[in-house]
Amino acid sequence: MNNSSRTDLSTLGEFGLINRIKSNTSLRNKESIIGIGDDAAVLYKNENEYTLLSTDLLIEGIHFDLTYCPLVHLGYKAVIVNLSDIAAMNGIPQQITVSLAISNRFSVEAIDELYKGIEAACKKYSVDLVGGDTTSSKTGLLISVTAVGTVSKQKLTLRKGAAENNIICVTGDLGAAYMGLQVLEREKQVFLANPDMQPELFGKEYIIQRQLKPEARTDIIHEFLSLSLQPTSMMDISDGLASEILHLCHASDTGAIIYEEKLPIDPMTYETAREFQLDATTCVMNGGEDYELVFTLPLSDYDKIKNHPSITVVGYMTPKHEGVKLMSRGGNLYDIKAQGWKHF
Ligand code: ADP
Ligand code: MG
Repeated sequence: MNNSSRTDLSTLGEFGLINRIKSNTSLRNKESIIGIGDDAAVLYKNENEYTLLSTDLLIEGIHFDLTYCPLVHLGYKAVIVNLSDIAAMNGIPQQITVSLAISNRFSVEAIDELYKGIEAACKKYSVDLVGGDTTSSKTGLLISVTAVGTVSKQKLTLRKGAAENNIICVTGDLGAAYMGLQVLEREKQVFLANPDMQPELFGKEYIIQRQLKPEARTDIIHEFLSLSLQPTSMMDISDGLASEILHLCHASDTGAIIYEEKLPIDPMTYETAREFQLDATTCVMNGGEDYELVFTLPLSDYDKIKNHPSITVVGYMTPKHEGVKLMSRGGNLYDIKAQGWKHF
């Protein structure tokens, strides 16, 4: 290839690159209902159901740091991030495969630990490990998990489908996993400077747990069923609320307004953000790894969820031309922007 045709990956970014890959491929089988572009692919299963398929790749040094991430938690989290993508389609996960690339730095016991975590997640979410692949690596540990799930045809929920005036809801609280990571990184630096120092994690248990051992909100998928709720659009919050809201708006052809004062933030997240001289709202909007769900509902469903302990209304969908905005506590409107891709 000559130099003049070389385009830096950073000029496209993650989403640009995915769009480019998507536009250079096409679907050939009628069973492939939805391909690239949502949290999971949607495949024909039978008259009443679709199969959902999602995959993620975790790389040592980029997605996890074994200095402070125990292998048992890593195994658990590697499964969770995929189950979360199945939940984001309003589906229930059923099977996973796990592929590993391992360097000779790892012992049999270490891999046992990793699989203890994988098995714990499988047990908790009633999922079966049905296969995978094992190979060697020269650079560290790589874990790829693929999850398969099922959703009934009427329940399938995409990123697209939200309409003007739909309320925007999130589950749980946000920003905690990001603050947990900041604490772990700080303690790592302290430890590297003085290996005799014990990490100072007391009082940070919740946010550290949110970073190291997240959960997938399949419980909310069951709640939707029992409350007779059908979200108009949904995705999981893996990259920070800002990026996810932009995805929902882009796919649904709407704008949105999010109210800063409504964002669900745990007091420990808030306090830790202050300690690090970070703005808690910025951590929520741009942090990531919450693995909560963001979804939209018709306004008429408000009464069904207004007192739900795990669901918070944070804003509503607006006409596209009004843009995607954050209303600050002080009453100022800001554009919500994507933070771009950190990987390249
Ligand atoms: P999520 O954060 O929900 O896992 P991603 O942002 O990783 O979603 O991916 C968005 C969409 O792009 C998904 O449909 C995913 O399958 C697809 N995708 C990501 N990377 C690639 C790739 N290298 N080739 C084909 N499709 C991809
Ligand atoms: Mg997702």
